Amino acid sequence: MNQALMAKWGWALLTEEQSLCCNVLRSKYLKGKQFFDCEVKSSDSWFWRNVVRSKEILRKGACKLISDGRETSIWDDPWVIHGTDFYPKSNYRQQRGLEKVSDLLLPDGNWDTLKLRNLFDQETVSNILRGGNPSGQGRDRWVWTKESNGLFSTKSAYLIQALARAPLCNIAPALWNKLWNSKILERHKVHWWSILSNALPLRAPLAKRMGFEEVSCPICGEAEETTEHLFLYCDFAFHLWRSSPWGVMPVPDSGARMWDWVTFLWNLKSRGVDTDKLFLYASIVVDTIWRARNDKVHNKSMGNIKHYIDSISSCYTDYGSCLLPLHKPIETCAWSSPPEDWVKINCDVKVGGETMCAVAIARDHNGSVLWVAAKRLHFSDPLAGEAAACLLAMETAVSLHHPFVLVESDSAIVIKNLKGDNPTWGIENYVRPCKLLSTFMTNCNFSSIARNCNFAAHNVAKWAFANNVTGMVDISTIPVNIFCNDHEV
Ligand SMILES: [Zn+2]
Repeated sequence: MNQALMAKWGWALLTEEQSLCCNVLRSKYLKGKQFFDCEVKSSDSWFWRNVVRSKEILRKGACKLISDGRETSIWDDPWVIHGTDFYPKSNYRQQRGLEKVSDLLLPDGNWDTLKLRNLFDQETVSNILRGGNPSGQGRDRWVWTKESNGLFSTKSAYLIQALARAPLCNIAPALWNKLWNSKILERHKVHWWSILSNALPLRAPLAKRMGFEEVSCPICGEAEETTEHLFLYCDFAFHLWRSSPWGVMPVPDSGARMWDWVTFLWNLKSRGVDTDKLFLYASIVVDTIWRARNDKVHNKSMGNIKHYIDSISSCYTDYGSCLLPLHKPIETCAWSSPPEDWVKINCDVKVGGETMCAVAIARDHNGSVLWVAAKRLHFSDPLAGEAAACLLAMETAVSLHHPFVLVESDSAIVIKNLKGDNPTWGIENYVRPCKLLSTFMTNCNFSSIARNCNFAAHNVAKWAFANNVTGMVDISTIPVNIFCNDHEV
C-alpha cells in the first residue's frame, strides 16, 4: 500500500482542509477528535484504515507552528518544531496549572524562558528558542517540516516511508541525515537510499539469493554486476566520473565501497570544494548510470557515452539553478556606505558549540560606526542565527528612530524571505516581526551582500562571541581594526 499517498488525506484532515471529501470523512469518522488521536475499528473501510495508518508517516514530519499557543497542548501535541520528534522532553519538575503552550508565554507574547527551563530539558529549551518568539498572528497551524515551505508533499512522505523500511545496516544515522538534507532532487535521495542499502536489483547479489546464472555487468560484460562495479569501477562509470568538472574519480581496485565514495565526496568540503554542487553532480551521474544500465537490460541498447555526458551536464545546469542557492545578485565587490540620511546595518552571526552571537553594526554615509548591537543566542543554527541578526538590526533601528534603513546580510535565504519570496517555516518567526518593524520606518530595504564584503559584521560577531558581549556595545571597547570590510581579523 502506498502510504505516502494516503498521508495526503491524513494531512488534509489534520490541517482542517475544508473540502467536501474531508468534511464527509470528518463527520463520519473523526467526530470532533483530532486526526492524530483516532484509532481504527475493524468495521472501518479499507480506505479509512489506510488513511489512519498513514499517521506513522505524518508523525515524522508534521508539527504545529505556534502562533499564540492557545490551541496546542504542551504534552499531547507535537510543537517543538526544531526537535527530533517535535514533543518536549520533561525534566520531571513540578508543573501545576500549565496545559496549553500559551501558558508558557509572557504577556508580551515572548517565551517565558524561566518556565521553559523549569519544565523541559536543555535540548528542548534550545530547540524552542531556535524557532524564535511566536508571531501571535492567527491560530497555531500545522507545518510539514520536510519541506522548507511547510506544505505537505507526497514525494517527501515517500522518502520517509523508504527510509523507515531501510534494512538495518551499519551506516551512521548522521550520514543518512546528511543525505536527507542534501540539496538534490527527492528522487535522487530515494535512489541513493536504494543504492546504499543494497536494495537495487543488481545481478550479482540477486544471483546469490535466487540462484540466477547471469551475473555479469550488462554494460561492459567484464565483471560481476555489484553496486561498486556498476557505479564506480565499470569503464562506463569511470568515464562519466572523469568527465566531471572536479576531476575526481574512483580508483579502480581500491576496495572502496559506495559509502566510502560518498563520504569522500562530502569530505572534500574541507579542501574548499563546494560539495553541494559536487554531490548534486554525483547524484546525476549515479542516476544516469542506472538509466543507461536499464536501457541496456530492457531495450538491449544504449546511447553512446557522449550522449550521456551531455545529458549529465544539461541536467546539472537545470537542477542546479533550482536546487542550489542562487548566484548572489550582481554586487560591487566592496562594502559601500549608504546615501546621506540613510543608515546601513550589516548583520552576521558567529556560531560556536551550543550557542551563537548575532550582531548588527550600523554605519552612516561617511562609513562611521553609529552603533553595534550584539545578542547571545542559546541555540545553534546558522540560518536562524542570520535571521535573528536581522531582527536585532530592525529592533535596534526602530528603537533609535532611524527613518531610512538598509539592512545587509550575507544569507541569501534570509534576504529572500525578508523580501517576501520563498517563505521558509524555520525562520518565519524572525522574518515576520522584521517586516512588521519595517512599517515603522519611512523607508527600509533588505539586500544580500557577498560574504567577502561583510567582514566588519563578521569580525564584530567573532569578537563579541569570544568576549561574551551582549546588548548595545560601547563602541570604544571594540578594537578599531576589526571594522575593516575586506578581510577577516
Ligand atoms: Zn561494467
